[in-house]
Amino acid sequence: MSQDCIFCRIVAGEIPSDKVYEDDNFLVFKDIRPAAPVHLLAIPKRHIARLSEAGADDRSLLGDLMLTIGHVAREQGLESYRLIVNDGAGAGQTVFHLHAHILSGRQLGEKLL
Ligand code: AMP
Ligand code: ZN
Repeated sequence: MSQDCIFCRIVAGEIPSDKVYEDDNFLVFKDIRPAAPVHLLAIPKRHIARLSEAGADDRSLLGDLMLTIGHVAREQGLESYRLIVNDGAGAGQTVFHLHAHILSGRQLGEKLL
């Protein structure tokens, strides 16, 4: 756990969050500033600062993260959704603990940006 990481502190229960799913390795909770009617953040509990810092050792964790997102989306009744992972400040990453944004609840445009 990284003491100054806000998502590690959420995992540790030191900062409250609106959880929608939790297991031994992953947590999915509502984004505090939703950009869509449904805006969830899916994170591994283990601190990885950003996607490009993940390595071959993280192969199964990253695969399981994707499967967990699919599971939670089905559980939440999301028929379609968009996944976004910002990797680095230049991509808009502000919290340096790997997370995937799950966006849904309205018609999203064909254009990404
Ligand atoms: P990113 O810009 O990809 O790093 O996304 C970080 C996201 O974390 C933003 O959408 C924030 O609104 C969200 N966020 C920051 N602090 C919290 C928090 N305490 N609880 C829930 N979401 C948060
Ligand atoms: Zn962290």
